[in-house]
Amino acid sequence: MTANELIKKVFFFEILQGLALTFKHMVSPSVTRQYPTEKREPVPGSRGLHALVRDSATGKEKCVGCGLCAAMCPSQCIHIYTSEGDDHKKVVDRYEVEVLRCVFCALCVEACPFGALALSEVFEYSGYTREEFYYTKERLLENWDKNMAGEKGRVYFEKFWRPKAVDFAAPGPVKSEAKSEERKSV
Ligand code: SF4
Ligand code: SF4
Repeated sequence: MTANELIKKVFFFEILQGLALTFKHMVSPSVTRQYPTEKREPVPGSRGLHALVRDSATGKEKCVGCGLCAAMCPSQCIHIYTSEGDDHKKVVDRYEVEVLRCVFCALCVEACPFGALALSEVFEYSGYTREEFYYTKERLLENWDKNMAGEKGRVYFEKFWRPKAVDFAAPGPVKSEAKSEERKSV
């Protein structure tokens, strides 16, 4: 044992250090929020309740019923039912999410090639039955209208969710190739 360690042991240095920290926190202001009377501002891009994006041009859902989101979902909690429309286009009859099974991984959002699905900032929802957490297409569209439509929705897709078209742009030269090109030109 070194002299330094011996002095620390004799004078209970670690215990005093711990007590000092405790006393410091006893006199510092509390950081506890009195929820629900005191709330934090919602964090943009957070993973809350699902929303189906409404196309402002057509007034309908953007979703085309391709099913990629459901295929990607690790909880298998997205259910999509489609039929053939008059013009032979796919019609999304039902789009449903069992929210109680969801783990909010957002893989569904990332998988969607049309930016038709979002996770909103809504995290305060409750209910007494399982059925209340079975979100239908209409309820998911309503959530978009209420909480994500307009500028908020635009920023959400612009800032927080990838991949985007720019991520698929042609890559530049590989670094080693670029260097050999430089050497040749010298
Ligand atoms: S957030 Fe994850 S678990 Fe929830 S529906 Fe989307 S893919 Fe499934
Ligand atoms: S939300 Fe997107 S990925 Fe899912 S079915 Fe609709 S278009 Fe396809």
